[in-house]
Amino acid sequence: MSGFLFEQIIFGPIRSRRLGISLGVNLLPTACKHCTFNCVYCECGWTKAHEVEPGFPGAGIIREALEEKLASMQKKNTLLDSITFAGNGEPTIHPEFPRIVDDVVELRNNYFPDARVSVLTNASRAGDPQIAKALLKTDNPILKLDAGTQEMFEKLNNPRIPVSLDDVLKSLEVFRGKGVIQTLFVKGTHKGEVIDNTTEEEVSQWLKHIERLKPRLVMIYPIARSTPEENLEVVPFEVLNEIAWRVEKLGIETEVF
Ligand code: SF4
Repeated sequence: MSGFLFEQIIFGPIRSRRLGISLGVNLLPTACKHCTFNCVYCECGWTKAHEVEPGFPGAGIIREALEEKLASMQKKNTLLDSITFAGNGEPTIHPEFPRIVDDVVELRNNYFPDARVSVLTNASRAGDPQIAKALLKTDNPILKLDAGTQEMFEKLNNPRIPVSLDDVLKSLEVFRGKGVIQTLFVKGTHKGEVIDNTTEEEVSQWLKHIERLKPRLVMIYPIARSTPEENLEVVPFEVLNEIAWRVEKLGIETEVF
């Protein structure tokens, strides 16, 4: 399947499973997915190699589009819980990401001071101090950690840049106590290989990482939409709840979606 793409820079507001009423900001090209990972479950479809780097919308255009939308929502007294960086791939790839975070925080303060600024990121670029600093300016840096082991990281997230699970874990240390970890649990096969991050080996390693990283919150969720790899199963809520219970035993708040 080709995957679902957002056709606009600003989309919504939508009612999000995790964030309430959320206005999306898509920093990626609207014509294609662009990501540093190629997760087997990605709702945007497979990550394709680009012969030419796709064009990103400029920071000025993004600011203008967001301000126009927020002004119109304010006029209509629309409710808003979160302005969320999400969309057709990994937002931190955008070359002006730090400047755009500053703009979004400023516009949020001007129009909807009670709304949070959230970023859905795979954390692959959080080792760059400028990116980490920008993520820490948001209320909700929501950082992906799906794997307990390097083997599962490669199978499930399939990184497209030279980054290892250890690199990601090291980058996540600066978010201790402030970041949110998001983990998608899934079972299935891809190219004849079993993919299952719910095994005891995987979960126990993942729990060790969680214990070390001490996130403010862990978000656990199953696949909810169609996936590029069709041989994937939705993990039952009983299994997700059992994993959540093990995280809570570490004294870390956990939500299952
Ligand atoms: S990190 Fe997110 S956008 Fe990138 S491939 Fe994985 S699910 Fe898709």
